[in-house]
Amino acid sequence: MIKITFLGTADAIPSAMRNSTSVLLNYNKENILIDCGEGTQRQFRKARLNPCKVTRVLISHWHGDHVLGIPGLLQTLALSGYKKTFFVYGPKGTKGFMKSLLNTFIFRGRYPIKVEEVNGKFFETEDFYLEAEKMTNGIHCNAYTFIKKGQTRIDKKKLKKSKLPSGPLLQKLKQGRNIVYRGKKYLAKNLTFREGDKKISFVFDTSMNKSIAPFVKNSDLLICESSFGSELEERAKEYKHLTAQQAAEISKKSKSKKLILTHISQRYDKNLKKILNDARKIFKNSFLVKDLDALEV
Ligand SMILES: [Zn+2]
Repeated sequence: MIKITFLGTADAIPSAMRNSTSVLLNYNKENILIDCGEGTQRQFRKARLNPCKVTRVLISHWHGDHVLGIPGLLQTLALSGYKKTFFVYGPKGTKGFMKSLLNTFIFRGRYPIKVEEVNGKFFETEDFYLEAEKMTNGIHCNAYTFIKKGQTRIDKKKLKKSKLPSGPLLQKLKQGRNIVYRGKKYLAKNLTFREGDKKISFVFDTSMNKSIAPFVKNSDLLICESSFGSELEERAKEYKHLTAQQAAEISKKSKSKKLILTHISQRYDKNLKKILNDARKIFKNSFLVKDLDALEV
C-alpha cells in the first residue's frame, strides 16, 4: 500500500488554513518527502508522523515556498540522533543551494547528506523506481514520478486446476521459472500473471508544457499544482504556473485515473468550489486537498 499525506497545500504564501507545500509518500520503509516548505516538520507532528523516518527528499525547485523547511528538518534530525544517509534530489543547482543552506546555521548533524541533481530515472529498488523530468518555471524545476513495479502473482484459479501443492514450487513459478512436478512440466507463464504498475506523479510550479502529459502518462494518482482558476489563465502563464483547468487537461490527455489539486492560492479560500469545478468540467475524477489529508493507492 502506498500512503500519501498532504503536509502543506498552500501556494507561495502560507495561510492560517494552509502550510507551504510538502507531500509525504510512504511505501514500506520508504518515506519520501516531495518538497519541504517552511513549517513542514510541525506538520509531521500534527499528522502524528515522525519526521525522523524520512528517507529521501525530492525538491521540485528552489523557490522558498518549496524548500525553506529543509534547515529546520535537518536540525531536528540532528537533535534526534538521525543516523541514516539523508538523500536530497533536485534539479540542476541543488548541490550549490544545499551547500549554501548548510552555511546559514550551525549544523551539528552527524549523519551524511548526499545530494544529487537528477533527470530521468534516478533511483531504483526491486520494488519501485523514481523518475524526474524537467519542467518550465523560469528556473530549474523538476516533476517527479514514483512507480511501484507490478509483482508476478500466481493465478489461483489455474493453480487449483493444476493440483500443484503450495510451497517452494510456487515461489519458483513466481520467479518466472518453469517447474517439473511428478514428471509433468508446468510453465510459469501459464500459471502466473503480472499485476499492473502503480504510478504516482507530482507536478509542482510549472507553466503548461509538452513534457508534462507524456511524463505522467497513466498515473494512478496525479498530484498537480493549480495556483490559478481558469479566469486567470493569462496570469498563470505570466507567473509560470498552471490553472485548475490545465491540470485537468493534463489528467485527461495523460489518461490518469485521479487528479489531486494542491498549491492553492489564498484568493480561493472562500471559493474553493471554483477551482474544483474548473477541473471537474474537464476531468470528473478531480479532488482538492487540504492540509493533513491522506489517501492510499
Ligand atoms: Zn510554489
